[in-house]
Amino acid sequence: MIRNTQRLSPLTDAWNWQLHARCRNMDSDLFFPHDDERRGERIRRERVAKEICIQCPVRSQCTAHAVSIGEPFGIWGGTSEAERRQLRADTGTSRTRSSRPPLRISGRYHSRIIEKMSVSPT
Ligand code: SF4
Repeated sequence: MIRNTQRLSPLTDAWNWQLHARCRNMDSDLFFPHDDERRGERIRRERVAKEICIQCPVRSQCTAHAVSIGEPFGIWGGTSEAERRQLRADTGTSRTRSSRPPLRISGRYHSRIIEKMSVSPT
């Protein structure tokens, strides 16, 4: 029994990054699609959400989290659903490889996400 508890790590360490989220206390409607949302509205909403994410201090942790759990909806870490599918394919966390063209994410940011994805929690 004691051996099993030694493998556990505090959950707060894994989730503390959320305390520093720039979107904390913001309206979540800005980050998630609405049922009756038109294409133009979606593009504008996602653009605003991504601008918020760009200045977020925990952007890479947020993206890594969303990619690792396969979050299917919303803007996370400045990435859309399609962009996260591509990241999952790039990190080998997807069951199917995407044939879509590469993302327009800067090489340095993409490398940081790949790096975060390759570090497994202890
Ligand atoms: S990167 Fe964007 S969605 Fe993620 S915590 Fe920061 S502001 Fe919120």
